[in-house]
Amino acid sequence: MKDDFLSTPLQFLKGVGPRKAADLKRAGLVSVEDLLYRLPFRYEDRARMQPIASLRAGNKAAVIGEIKSARLAITRRRGFKIFNAVVGDASGAIRCAWMNQAFLADILQPHLRVIIFGDVKLDSTGLHLLNPEYELVAEDGLGVHTGRIVPFYEKSGSVTPNMQRKLVRFALDQLPPEIPDVLPADLRERQGLGTRRAALEAAHFPPNDASVRELNAFRTPAQRRLIFEEFFLFQIGHAWRRQVSSMELKPFVPTVDDRIRAAAAAILPFKLTPGQRQAVKEIVDDMRRPQPMHRLLQGDVGAGKTIVALLAALVAMENGLQVAFMAPTEILAGQHFGNIARLLSRSRFRVDLLTGSTPGLQKHTLHAHIERGTSNLIVGTHALVQENVNFHRLGLVVIDEQHRFGVAQRASLRSKGLQPDVLLMTATPIPRTLALTDYSELDVSKITDLPPGRTPVRTVVRPESRRDEIYQLLRDQLDQGRQAYIIYPLVEGSEKVDLKSATEMADHLQTDIFPSYRIALLHGRMKPDAKERVMHAFAAGQIHILVSTTVVEVGVDVPNASVMVIEHAERFGLSQLHQLRGRVGRGSWESHCVLLYQSPWTDDARERLNAMAATNDGFVIAERDLELRGPGDFFGTRQSGLPQLRTGDLVRDRDIMEAAYGEARRLVTETGLTGDLLRFVEEQWQQQFGLIEVG
Ligand code: ADP
Ligand code: MG
Repeated sequence: MKDDFLSTPLQFLKGVGPRKAADLKRAGLVSVEDLLYRLPFRYEDRARMQPIASLRAGNKAAVIGEIKSARLAITRRRGFKIFNAVVGDASGAIRCAWMNQAFLADILQPHLRVIIFGDVKLDSTGLHLLNPEYELVAEDGLGVHTGRIVPFYEKSGSVTPNMQRKLVRFALDQLPPEIPDVLPADLRERQGLGTRRAALEAAHFPPNDASVRELNAFRTPAQRRLIFEEFFLFQIGHAWRRQVSSMELKPFVPTVDDRIRAAAAAILPFKLTPGQRQAVKEIVDDMRRPQPMHRLLQGDVGAGKTIVALLAALVAMENGLQVAFMAPTEILAGQHFGNIARLLSRSRFRVDLLTGSTPGLQKHTLHAHIERGTSNLIVGTHALVQENVNFHRLGLVVIDEQHRFGVAQRASLRSKGLQPDVLLMTATPIPRTLALTDYSELDVSKITDLPPGRTPVRTVVRPESRRDEIYQLLRDQLDQGRQAYIIYPLVEGSEKVDLKSATEMADHLQTDIFPSYRIALLHGRMKPDAKERVMHAFAAGQIHILVSTTVVEVGVDVPNASVMVIEHAERFGLSQLHQLRGRVGRGSWESHCVLLYQSPWTDDARERLNAMAATNDGFVIAERDLELRGPGDFFGTRQSGLPQLRTGDLVRDRDIMEAAYGEARRLVTETGLTGDLLRFVEEQWQQQFGLIEVG
């Protein structure tokens, strides 16, 4: 696949000395391939030559003609020089003037053919082109910088766009007429894609009848072909890894019999929804297979994923296997532990909680229980991976709110067991394109329904000035026995101020506004046991309003809470707002979400908040969020498994990713990987896409 010429270091290209090569390298361009796969970021139509007689002042124009005369003029201002050249075509002639570029006298000599492109000006000296771009051309030749649809490149360090353009032209001229093509011919035919060689040429130097609009939208066949190629190579790696891992075998394969079914039925506090039942079935089917499960369970906030995971855990434990259940925050881990311990209280299984703040002695005993296998289900935070924890017989790993974990953490817990089954759960609906990148190797189950009796949350967007109205709403709800959250942003860099406003608000509400209700403050800087106490009291209904930072963002489940007020909502991202809103609407009463903003707000903020008010559908919100923020930021602080791409764009080129995914899976499962593609996946894939292990 690697063509010799493509892998040539740019340094060996004619015209590139060691200095320029160093500049190029700094810009990430080392080989000819690097250069050719850095596509222009825009194109300009300089193809249409105008007859000189038709030129009008105030426009940009391209003309082709002969230099009739040329003269360097020295002006009265000392050292100020103007180079004038008159260019003529069949229709007429026009003067071109360049300021302080005396060296042009050596280049633009009379009788040479030239293409000129620039601004047409009119002043007391008459009609002329001022400081235009120029290019000498052969009798019939197209230019490189003018006289065609011209490519523009992002500036790479000291490499000017003109230099890069020349270099690309030069490299393309030397590229052999046939170069190996990564994409099999039958695939190209199916997808309507041209050859690699032709695509490289046309993506940099499009034919003059190409559509500039299409080019600038990256939609021409040549561009699509190169983007497809990149996505395909990316997906091939995933498909292959998936194939390889499907050949691993786990040491213990759970079975399911009537006794286990009865045990499951006994712990169920309610009837599962059809979506939950389907998810349980898919997960348990996976667990009974000899290969380890790699499954992602998606379900909007409040869909009821926890019980699904618990049923899977029960199957593992009934088979004598241990289960690790990891949550991203101590609050959430504590909540899961409480619920699970309660549901399993009449079973023979021992459930433990292990977090960073578990006291040393207790931790010590716990480690021993885990190692001996006397602890069956361990709920915890990332302490489960950081600490020196050895499992006796780890059969299932559940990772809740998995988008909050770094990929490294996910991988390291997995490696603690001998090929355990892995169930990832997320309430952040993942737009399809990202799912195809980050989770390409996973099977996916979706819960699309909600437990019965839920009423959709009513969301309103309100300016700070209407705060009184919000207090009235809060009062109404509290009087009806409900509870409320008031959330403050905690922004990096201004934590102190933010925390102060949260604290002051809690005081103000308690003393001035709601003296007869109990109000408490919760934030990440509090001691773990203090956090626990507050959370506990709120869940038990002893605290009526919880003023909190975003520590309650994910997972927290207090069905009696029916109001979510978000202060400075303009500072939050869409997905985060959706998660926060998901804390209410968990009971059977109508719930409210109030997005309070402080003016002035940006257009972006307005769009975000209005999108929130317009829909409760997590999927719609996720797609919108992806568009507004781009894939890099979508997952927030998470250490992302997104690939480094050189031609494609995950948002713009969703459809191409989809097609590449299908073709890659097809190739790997139908014919398997051989030859160059196999070598690519084994030797280059990781490096090219800059990925870290994905759970
Ligand atoms: P999430 O998917 O956001 O993690 P949870 O698992 O926390 O959701 O469930 C949300 C709430 O819905 C919990 O209070 C849970 O007990 C309840 N719940 C889950 N499934 C059902 C069901 N089938 N019927 C009634 N309530 C349910
Ligand atoms: Mg949850």
